[in-house]
Amino acid sequence: MRINCPYCGTRDHAEFAYGGDASLKRPDLADQDMERWYDYVYLRDNPRGPHQEFWHHIYGCRQVLVVERDTLTHEISSVKPAREMIEPADRRRQEP
Ligand SMILES: [Zn+2]
Repeated sequence: MRINCPYCGTRDHAEFAYGGDASLKRPDLADQDMERWYDYVYLRDNPRGPHQEFWHHIYGCRQVLVVERDTLTHEISSVKPAREMIEPADRRRQEP
């Protein structure tokens, strides 16, 4: 499988580290519902078809990417920087 990094170009997937499901939404840090945290940390779906995943380009630009991949065919339909997925509220929290 080859991943088209927006910064480095098309590279073999061996240059990347899989980072898990990119569609999961972390509960608010103040959320004390342990059931919600358990689901977020431990439970994973095993989707068939198009799926968004994090891939870290560890032997390239070191950017984290969101790759939309079909889990049946491994066909990749889009690759974009993960930071484009950060919502404005989260972005404000990350700035110094
Ligand atoms: Zn890269």
